[in-house]
Amino acid sequence: MRRSIALVVLVVAMFPLGAVAQGTGTGQIVRRPGDGRQPEFPPPTITEYHPRSTLVVPAHLVPRAKFPAVDLHGHPPTLTSPDVVNTVGEAMDKLNLQIMVNASPSSGDRLAQQIAAVKASRYPNRFVMFASLDLRNVGPGSGQKIAAQLVADVKAGAAGIGEIMKSFGLSIKKADGTRLKLDDPELDLVWETAANLKIPVFIHVGDPAEFFQPLDFQNERWLELALYPDRRYQDRARFPTFEGLMAERDRLFARHPRTVWVIAHLGWHAQDLARLGLMFDRFPNLYSEVGAVLYDLGRQPRNARVFMIKYQDRILFGKDSFQPDEYPYYWRVFETDDEYFDYYRDYHAFWKLYGLALPDSVLRKLYYANAEKIITGLPRAGLPN
Ligand SMILES: [Zn+2]
Repeated sequence: MRRSIALVVLVVAMFPLGAVAQGTGTGQIVRRPGDGRQPEFPPPTITEYHPRSTLVVPAHLVPRAKFPAVDLHGHPPTLTSPDVVNTVGEAMDKLNLQIMVNASPSSGDRLAQQIAAVKASRYPNRFVMFASLDLRNVGPGSGQKIAAQLVADVKAGAAGIGEIMKSFGLSIKKADGTRLKLDDPELDLVWETAANLKIPVFIHVGDPAEFFQPLDFQNERWLELALYPDRRYQDRARFPTFEGLMAERDRLFARHPRTVWVIAHLGWHAQDLARLGLMFDRFPNLYSEVGAVLYDLGRQPRNARVFMIKYQDRILFGKDSFQPDEYPYYWRVFETDDEYFDYYRDYHAFWKLYGLALPDSVLRKLYYANAEKIITGLPRAGLPN
Protein backbone atom coordinates (compact mmCIF):
# COMPACT_ATOMS: atom_id res chain seq x y z
CA MET A 1 0.00 0.00 0.00
CA ARG A 2 2.76 2.39 0.97
CA ARG A 3 4.53 1.59 -2.30
CA SER A 4 1.51 2.50 -4.42
CA ILE A 5 1.19 5.84 -2.62
CA ALA A 6 4.86 6.47 -3.32
CA LEU A 7 4.21 5.59 -6.99
CA VAL A 8 1.36 8.10 -7.24
CA VAL A 9 3.56 10.80 -5.71
CA LEU A 10 6.38 9.91 -8.11
CA VAL A 11 4.15 9.95 -11.20
CA VAL A 12 2.56 13.28 -10.20
CA ALA A 13 6.03 14.70 -9.66
CA MET A 14 7.16 13.51 -13.09
CA PHE A 15 4.08 14.68 -14.99
CA PRO A 16 2.81 17.83 -13.30
CA LEU A 17 -0.73 19.04 -13.96
CA GLY A 18 -1.36 19.53 -17.67
CA ALA A 19 1.78 17.74 -18.79
CA VAL A 20 1.30 14.87 -21.22
CA ALA A 21 3.43 11.76 -21.16
CA GLN A 22 4.65 11.12 -24.70
CA GLY A 23 3.63 7.78 -26.15
CA THR A 24 6.60 7.69 -28.46
CA GLY A 25 9.02 5.92 -26.18
CA THR A 26 11.07 9.09 -25.91
CA GLY A 27 9.09 10.60 -23.04
CA GLN A 28 9.94 9.97 -19.42
CA ILE A 29 8.64 6.64 -18.25
CA VAL A 30 8.77 4.78 -15.00
CA ARG A 31 10.97 1.71 -15.24
CA ARG A 32 11.57 -0.91 -12.60
CA PRO A 33 13.81 -3.57 -14.12
CA GLY A 34 13.44 -6.58 -11.89
CA ASP A 35 12.36 -4.38 -8.98
CA GLY A 36 16.05 -3.76 -8.40
CA ARG A 37 16.88 -7.45 -8.05
CA GLN A 38 19.65 -9.14 -10.01
CA PRO A 39 18.96 -12.39 -11.92
CA GLU A 40 20.05 -15.45 -9.98
CA PHE A 41 21.38 -17.02 -13.22
CA PRO A 42 23.47 -15.43 -15.98
CA PRO A 43 20.99 -13.64 -18.29
CA PRO A 44 20.75 -14.83 -21.91
CA THR A 45 22.31 -12.67 -24.58
CA ILE A 46 20.29 -10.73 -27.15
CA THR A 47 20.80 -13.54 -29.67
CA GLU A 48 19.91 -16.33 -27.22
CA TYR A 49 16.61 -15.15 -25.77
CA HIS A 50 13.65 -16.40 -27.83
CA PRO A 51 10.72 -16.85 -25.45
CA ARG A 52 7.86 -19.01 -26.69
CA SER A 53 4.70 -16.91 -26.84
CA THR A 54 1.92 -18.46 -24.81
CA LEU A 55 -0.68 -16.19 -26.39
CA VAL A 56 -3.50 -18.04 -28.11
CA VAL A 57 -5.39 -15.87 -30.59
CA PRO A 58 -6.92 -16.36 -34.06
CA ALA A 59 -4.24 -16.67 -36.74
CA HIS A 60 -4.72 -16.34 -40.50
CA LEU A 61 -1.77 -17.22 -42.69
CA VAL A 62 -1.95 -15.63 -46.15
CA PRO A 63 0.18 -17.59 -48.63
CA ARG A 64 -1.22 -15.68 -51.63
CA ALA A 65 -2.00 -11.99 -51.97
CA LYS A 66 -5.73 -11.28 -52.07
CA PHE A 67 -5.32 -9.39 -55.37
CA PRO A 68 -2.65 -9.73 -58.06
CA ALA A 69 0.33 -7.76 -56.84
CA VAL A 70 3.07 -5.73 -58.47
CA ASP A 71 6.40 -5.83 -56.65
CA LEU A 72 7.93 -2.46 -57.40
CA HIS A 73 11.04 -3.27 -55.41
CA GLY A 74 12.05 -6.59 -56.95
CA HIS A 75 15.57 -7.93 -56.71
CA PRO A 76 15.33 -11.28 -58.48
CA PRO A 77 18.46 -13.16 -59.48
CA THR A 78 19.91 -11.56 -62.62
CA LEU A 79 17.56 -12.60 -65.43
CA THR A 80 20.32 -13.91 -67.66
CA SER A 81 18.36 -16.74 -69.29
CA PRO A 82 14.77 -17.90 -69.85
CA ASP A 83 15.40 -20.64 -67.25
CA VAL A 84 16.11 -18.11 -64.52
CA VAL A 85 13.02 -16.13 -65.52
CA ASN A 86 10.91 -19.31 -65.39
CA THR A 87 12.15 -20.18 -61.90
CA VAL A 88 11.31 -16.71 -60.59
CA GLY A 89 7.96 -16.76 -62.43
CA GLU A 90 6.96 -20.06 -60.80
CA ALA A 91 7.68 -18.61 -57.35
CA MET A 92 5.64 -15.51 -58.26
CA ASP A 93 2.63 -17.64 -59.31
CA LYS A 94 2.46 -19.25 -55.87
CA LEU A 95 2.34 -15.82 -54.18
CA ASN A 96 -0.14 -14.21 -56.61
CA LEU A 97 2.63 -11.85 -57.55
CA GLN A 98 1.59 -10.81 -61.03
CA ILE A 99 4.41 -8.43 -61.97
CA MET A 100 7.92 -7.99 -60.73
CA VAL A 101 9.76 -4.77 -61.42
CA ASN A 102 13.41 -5.67 -61.74
CA ALA A 103 14.79 -2.93 -59.53
CA SER A 104 18.30 -4.30 -59.88
CA PRO A 105 18.68 -1.95 -62.80
CA SER A 106 20.76 -2.38 -65.91
CA SER A 107 21.70 -0.53 -69.03
CA GLY A 108 22.88 -1.18 -72.59
CA ASP A 109 23.75 -4.80 -73.39
CA ARG A 110 22.91 -6.14 -69.92
CA LEU A 111 19.46 -4.60 -70.16
CA ALA A 112 18.93 -5.98 -73.68
CA GLN A 113 20.02 -9.46 -72.58
CA GLN A 114 17.51 -9.52 -69.71
CA ILE A 115 14.68 -8.20 -71.87
CA ALA A 116 15.44 -10.95 -74.41
CA ALA A 117 15.50 -13.62 -71.67
CA VAL A 118 12.07 -12.49 -70.40
CA LYS A 119 10.64 -12.49 -73.92
CA ALA A 120 11.88 -16.04 -74.55
CA SER A 121 10.56 -17.32 -71.19
CA ARG A 122 7.14 -18.66 -70.22
CA TYR A 123 6.54 -15.34 -68.40
CA PRO A 124 6.95 -12.67 -71.08
CA ASN A 125 4.38 -10.29 -69.54
CA ARG A 126 5.35 -10.58 -65.90
CA PHE A 127 8.50 -8.48 -65.62
CA VAL A 128 9.32 -4.80 -65.92
CA MET A 129 12.88 -3.60 -66.38
CA PHE A 130 14.22 -0.43 -64.86
CA ALA A 131 17.30 1.38 -66.13
CA SER A 132 20.48 2.09 -64.21
CA LEU A 133 22.34 5.39 -64.18
CA ASP A 134 26.13 5.54 -64.18
CA LEU A 135 26.70 8.10 -61.42
CA ARG A 136 30.44 7.51 -61.03
CA ASN A 137 32.85 10.42 -61.49
CA VAL A 138 30.20 12.99 -62.33
CA GLY A 139 31.65 16.19 -63.76
CA PRO A 140 30.82 18.79 -66.38
CA GLY A 141 28.93 17.11 -69.26
CA SER A 142 27.98 13.99 -67.26
CA GLY A 143 24.32 14.97 -67.09
CA GLN A 144 24.02 15.02 -70.86
CA LYS A 145 25.79 11.66 -71.23
CA ILE A 146 23.68 9.95 -68.57
CA ALA A 147 20.47 11.40 -70.00
CA ALA A 148 21.37 10.19 -73.53
CA GLN A 149 21.97 6.63 -72.24
CA LEU A 150 18.67 6.81 -70.39
CA VAL A 151 16.81 7.73 -73.56
CA ALA A 152 18.44 4.75 -75.33
CA ASP A 153 17.58 2.37 -72.46
CA VAL A 154 13.95 3.48 -72.38
CA LYS A 155 13.78 3.00 -76.14
CA ALA A 156 15.15 -0.54 -75.59
CA GLY A 157 12.33 -1.26 -73.13
CA ALA A 158 13.18 0.12 -69.69
CA ALA A 159 10.07 1.49 -67.95
CA GLY A 160 11.66 3.45 -65.13
CA ILE A 161 14.89 4.36 -63.38
CA GLY A 162 16.27 2.56 -60.38
CA GLU A 163 16.57 1.39 -57.79
CA ILE A 164 19.14 4.13 -57.43
CA MET A 165 21.15 2.72 -54.56
CA LYS A 166 21.96 4.34 -51.25
CA SER A 167 25.58 4.84 -52.29
CA PHE A 168 24.22 7.90 -54.14
CA GLY A 169 24.27 10.46 -51.34
CA LEU A 170 26.27 8.34 -48.89
CA SER A 171 29.50 7.54 -50.67
CA ILE A 172 29.65 8.09 -54.47
CA LYS A 173 32.30 10.67 -55.34
CA LYS A 174 32.39 13.22 -58.13
CA ALA A 175 35.29 13.47 -60.56
CA ASP A 176 36.71 16.21 -58.32
CA GLY A 177 36.75 13.87 -55.32
CA THR A 178 33.89 15.48 -53.38
CA ARG A 179 30.74 13.60 -52.39
CA LEU A 180 28.11 13.59 -55.15
CA LYS A 181 25.20 15.40 -53.52
CA LEU A 182 21.67 14.24 -54.27
CA ASP A 183 20.70 17.68 -55.56
CA ASP A 184 23.84 18.23 -57.67
CA PRO A 185 22.77 20.52 -60.55
CA GLU A 186 24.78 18.49 -63.06
CA LEU A 187 22.08 15.80 -62.78
CA ASP A 188 19.13 18.16 -63.29
CA LEU A 189 18.95 17.18 -66.96
CA VAL A 190 18.64 13.49 -66.03
CA TRP A 191 15.65 14.05 -63.75
CA GLU A 192 13.99 16.36 -66.28
CA THR A 193 14.54 13.74 -69.00
CA ALA A 194 12.78 11.19 -66.79
CA ALA A 195 9.85 13.60 -66.49
CA ASN A 196 9.76 14.08 -70.28
CA LEU A 197 9.88 10.30 -70.84
CA LYS A 198 7.07 9.90 -68.25
CA ILE A 199 8.98 7.27 -66.31
CA PRO A 200 9.27 7.07 -62.51
CA VAL A 201 12.54 7.44 -60.63
CA PHE A 202 12.87 4.85 -57.86
CA ILE A 203 15.44 6.05 -55.36
CA HIS A 204 16.78 4.71 -52.08
CA VAL A 205 18.23 7.47 -49.90
CA GLY A 206 20.20 6.77 -46.75
CA ASP A 207 19.28 4.06 -44.29
CA PRO A 208 17.41 3.93 -40.96
CA ALA A 209 18.22 6.95 -38.80
CA GLU A 210 19.55 4.64 -36.08
CA PHE A 211 22.40 3.60 -38.41
CA PHE A 212 23.74 7.15 -38.05
CA GLN A 213 23.42 7.14 -34.25
CA PRO A 214 25.92 5.90 -31.65
CA LEU A 215 26.06 2.12 -31.34
CA ASP A 216 24.96 1.90 -27.72
CA PHE A 217 22.46 -0.26 -25.85
CA GLN A 218 19.72 2.29 -26.44
CA ASN A 219 20.04 1.92 -30.23
CA GLU A 220 17.00 0.09 -31.59
CA ARG A 221 19.14 -1.46 -34.33
CA TRP A 222 22.05 -2.51 -32.11
CA LEU A 223 22.05 -6.11 -33.33
CA GLU A 224 21.96 -5.23 -37.02
CA LEU A 225 24.74 -2.68 -36.59
CA ALA A 226 26.80 -5.16 -34.64
CA LEU A 227 26.31 -7.74 -37.42
CA TYR A 228 26.97 -5.47 -40.41
CA PRO A 229 29.93 -3.06 -40.24
CA ASP A 230 29.00 -1.52 -43.61
CA ARG A 231 25.73 -0.21 -42.17
CA ARG A 232 27.45 2.04 -39.63
CA TYR A 233 27.43 5.69 -40.64
CA GLN A 234 28.65 7.27 -37.42
CA ASP A 235 31.89 8.58 -38.94
CA ARG A 236 31.11 12.22 -39.78
CA ALA A 237 34.36 12.51 -41.73
CA ARG A 238 33.01 9.93 -44.19
CA PHE A 239 29.21 10.27 -44.07
CA PRO A 240 26.67 13.09 -43.89
CA THR A 241 24.23 13.15 -40.99
CA PHE A 242 20.84 11.49 -41.46
CA GLU A 243 19.06 14.83 -41.34
CA GLY A 244 21.59 16.43 -43.70
CA LEU A 245 20.94 13.69 -46.23
CA MET A 246 17.17 13.96 -45.88
CA ALA A 247 17.35 17.74 -46.42
CA GLU A 248 19.38 17.15 -49.57
CA ARG A 249 16.80 14.63 -50.77
CA ASP A 250 13.92 17.03 -50.17
CA ARG A 251 15.73 19.78 -52.09
CA LEU A 252 16.10 17.32 -54.99
CA PHE A 253 12.36 16.63 -54.99
CA ALA A 254 11.57 20.34 -54.73
CA ARG A 255 13.81 21.11 -57.73
CA HIS A 256 11.97 18.61 -59.94
CA PRO A 257 8.22 18.76 -59.33
CA ARG A 258 7.45 17.29 -62.79
CA THR A 259 9.41 14.11 -62.09
CA VAL A 260 7.59 11.15 -60.56
CA TRP A 261 9.65 10.09 -57.56
CA VAL A 262 9.28 6.82 -55.70
CA ILE A 263 11.22 6.91 -52.46
CA ALA A 264 12.24 3.45 -51.28
CA HIS A 265 11.46 2.00 -47.83
CA LEU A 266 8.83 4.65 -46.96
CA GLY A 267 11.71 7.11 -47.00
CA TRP A 268 13.01 5.55 -43.75
CA HIS A 269 10.21 7.42 -41.99
CA ALA A 270 7.99 4.41 -41.29
CA GLN A 271 8.63 4.90 -37.57
CA ASP A 272 7.36 8.49 -37.93
CA LEU A 273 4.52 8.33 -40.42
CA ALA A 274 3.37 11.87 -39.70
CA ARG A 275 6.67 13.08 -41.13
CA LEU A 276 6.18 11.02 -44.28
CA GLY A 277 2.64 12.39 -44.55
CA LEU A 278 4.02 15.94 -44.53
CA MET A 279 6.33 14.94 -47.39
CA PHE A 280 3.42 13.54 -49.39
CA ASP A 281 1.51 16.78 -48.75
CA ARG A 282 4.45 18.88 -49.87
CA PHE A 283 5.39 16.87 -52.99
CA PRO A 284 2.34 15.82 -55.04
CA ASN A 285 4.57 13.75 -57.37
CA LEU A 286 6.07 11.70 -54.55
CA TYR A 287 5.26 8.02 -54.02
CA SER A 288 6.78 5.40 -51.78
CA GLU A 289 6.93 1.66 -51.22
CA VAL A 290 6.94 -0.61 -48.21
CA GLY A 291 9.97 -2.83 -48.88
CA ALA A 292 11.86 -4.05 -45.81
CA VAL A 293 10.04 -1.76 -43.36
CA LEU A 294 7.18 -4.09 -42.52
CA TYR A 295 8.43 -4.25 -38.93
CA ASP A 296 7.60 -0.57 -38.47
CA LEU A 297 4.07 -0.78 -39.91
CA GLY A 298 3.34 -3.97 -38.00
CA ARG A 299 4.22 -2.51 -34.63
CA GLN A 300 1.76 0.38 -34.93
CA PRO A 301 -1.26 -1.23 -36.63
CA ARG A 302 -3.80 1.46 -35.70
CA ASN A 303 -1.65 4.44 -36.65
CA ALA A 304 -0.35 2.72 -39.79
CA ARG A 305 -3.87 1.77 -40.89
CA VAL A 306 -5.06 5.38 -40.64
CA PHE A 307 -1.96 6.47 -42.56
CA MET A 308 -2.27 3.86 -45.31
CA ILE A 309 -5.90 4.81 -45.82
CA LYS A 310 -5.18 8.55 -45.88
CA TYR A 311 -2.29 8.18 -48.34
CA GLN A 312 -3.73 5.22 -50.27
CA ASP A 313 -2.92 6.87 -53.62
CA ARG A 314 0.78 7.25 -52.82
CA ILE A 315 2.00 3.91 -51.48
CA LEU A 316 3.03 0.90 -53.54
CA PHE A 317 3.87 -2.64 -52.63
CA GLY A 318 7.56 -3.53 -52.79
CA LYS A 319 9.48 -6.31 -51.09
CA ASP A 320 13.22 -5.70 -51.62
CA SER A 321 15.23 -8.94 -51.32
CA PHE A 322 13.70 -11.85 -53.26
CA GLN A 323 12.87 -14.48 -50.67
CA PRO A 324 9.58 -16.06 -51.73
CA ASP A 325 8.77 -17.32 -48.21
CA GLU A 326 8.88 -13.76 -46.82
CA TYR A 327 6.13 -12.25 -49.01
CA PRO A 328 3.29 -13.90 -47.01
CA TYR A 329 4.31 -11.83 -43.96
CA TYR A 330 3.43 -8.73 -45.96
CA TRP A 331 0.08 -10.14 -47.10
CA ARG A 332 -0.71 -11.04 -43.50
CA VAL A 333 0.13 -7.60 -42.10
CA PHE A 334 -1.85 -5.79 -44.79
CA GLU A 335 -4.85 -8.10 -45.04
CA THR A 336 -5.57 -9.55 -41.60
CA ASP A 337 -6.19 -8.27 -38.10
CA ASP A 338 -3.99 -10.95 -36.56
CA GLU A 339 -2.16 -10.02 -33.38
CA TYR A 340 1.33 -10.48 -32.01
CA PHE A 341 2.93 -12.66 -34.68
CA ASP A 342 6.54 -13.19 -35.60
CA TYR A 343 8.52 -11.19 -38.12
CA TYR A 344 11.07 -12.99 -40.24
CA ARG A 345 14.27 -11.11 -39.48
CA ASP A 346 15.34 -10.70 -35.87
CA TYR A 347 17.99 -8.07 -36.51
CA HIS A 348 15.38 -5.74 -38.03
CA ALA A 349 13.02 -6.05 -35.13
CA PHE A 350 12.90 -7.92 -31.87
CA TRP A 351 9.20 -7.20 -31.53
CA LYS A 352 6.05 -8.82 -32.93
CA LEU A 353 3.72 -7.71 -35.71
CA TYR A 354 0.02 -6.92 -35.86
CA GLY A 355 -2.27 -6.86 -38.88
CA LEU A 356 -3.66 -3.65 -40.37
CA ALA A 357 -6.77 -5.23 -41.95
CA LEU A 358 -6.76 -2.75 -44.83
CA PRO A 359 -9.99 -2.38 -46.81
CA ASP A 360 -10.06 -4.08 -50.24
CA SER A 361 -10.14 -0.71 -52.03
CA VAL A 362 -6.86 0.27 -50.36
CA LEU A 363 -5.28 -3.16 -50.91
CA ARG A 364 -6.01 -2.88 -54.63
CA LYS A 365 -4.20 0.46 -54.86
CA LEU A 366 -1.30 -0.78 -52.76
CA TYR A 367 -0.94 -4.04 -54.67
CA TYR A 368 -1.37 -2.92 -58.29
CA ALA A 369 -3.41 0.20 -59.10
CA ASN A 370 -0.84 2.78 -57.99
CA ALA A 371 1.87 0.93 -59.95
CA GLU A 372 -0.41 0.94 -63.00
CA LYS A 373 -0.84 4.67 -62.57
CA ILE A 374 2.84 5.64 -62.47
CA ILE A 375 4.52 2.97 -64.64
CA THR A 376 3.31 3.64 -68.18
CA GLY A 377 5.11 0.55 -69.46
CA LEU A 378 3.50 -1.88 -67.02
CA PRO A 379 1.90 -4.92 -68.73
CA ARG A 380 -1.85 -4.72 -67.96
CA ALA A 381 -2.71 -8.32 -68.86
CA GLY A 382 -3.35 -10.31 -65.69
CA LEU A 383 -4.23 -7.28 -63.58
CA PRO A 384 -7.88 -6.65 -62.67
CA ASN A 385 -9.68 -4.05 -64.79
ZN1 LIG B 1 16.49 -2.48 -53.11
